[in-house]
Amino acid sequence: MHVILLGAPGAGKGTQAVQISGRLGLAHIASGDLFRQEQGSGSELGKIAKSYMEKGLLVPDEVTVRMILGRIAAPDCAKGFLLDGFPRTLEQAKALDQALAEEGKSISLVLYIKVSTEELLRRLSGRWICRNCQVPYNIVELPPKVPGKCDYCGGELYQRPDDSEETARKRLEVYFAQTMPLIEYYTEAGKLVEIEGEKGIEGVAQDLIAAIEAGIVR
Ligand code: AMP
Repeated sequence: MHVILLGAPGAGKGTQAVQISGRLGLAHIASGDLFRQEQGSGSELGKIAKSYMEKGLLVPDEVTVRMILGRIAAPDCAKGFLLDGFPRTLEQAKALDQALAEEGKSISLVLYIKVSTEELLRRLSGRWICRNCQVPYNIVELPPKVPGKCDYCGGELYQRPDDSEETARKRLEVYFAQTMPLIEYYTEAGKLVEIEGEKGIEGVAQDLIAAIEAGIVR
């Protein structure tokens, strides 16, 4: 299965990817996490990415596509992958389709997690992330068991600088302008399934898994 999780920043893609990738045995690939790792390692790619990320803008397609195509060629993706945060532009989606087609593969399913703009802003401002394993928490909806510490690895939790209200608004603007067209692209391809994203974490996870299982049968 080659599955894409599509949705605005704050829609719950990261939270849901953690919930379902393990249950389904798919490699979880989060483009934002990969860029943050590159920044942490001080690489040239990390430096390029930082200058866009801190403004709430998208990293250029060429750089992003190269990074993701390299990642999905890794052995842990052989059984399938769950993409979280990629593609975010039509160019990225087309480059992905082309690269998969060259290998005789294709995207199986695109799960679009739909959440209202008001709710997205509320979630982004309450978000805390594990510095070590990147798992997201929310101080209201999904607090960690021990304040400030990750439930999974004990890592320190922090607030992403690009979750500040001003940058979060910019990221949503960018999402509406550059990523929303993908909904039409994948609908036309017959691959899009819309999932109601305000049902609670377990409710959304169950709907996502049901959609993937229906996709496997189909
Ligand atoms: P995320 O963690 O998915 O919210 O991504 C954080 C930031 O990383 C975004 O605001 C972009 O600056 C950058 N980024 C992540 N994924 C992509 C992508 N597919 N294309 C371009 N930039 C991206």
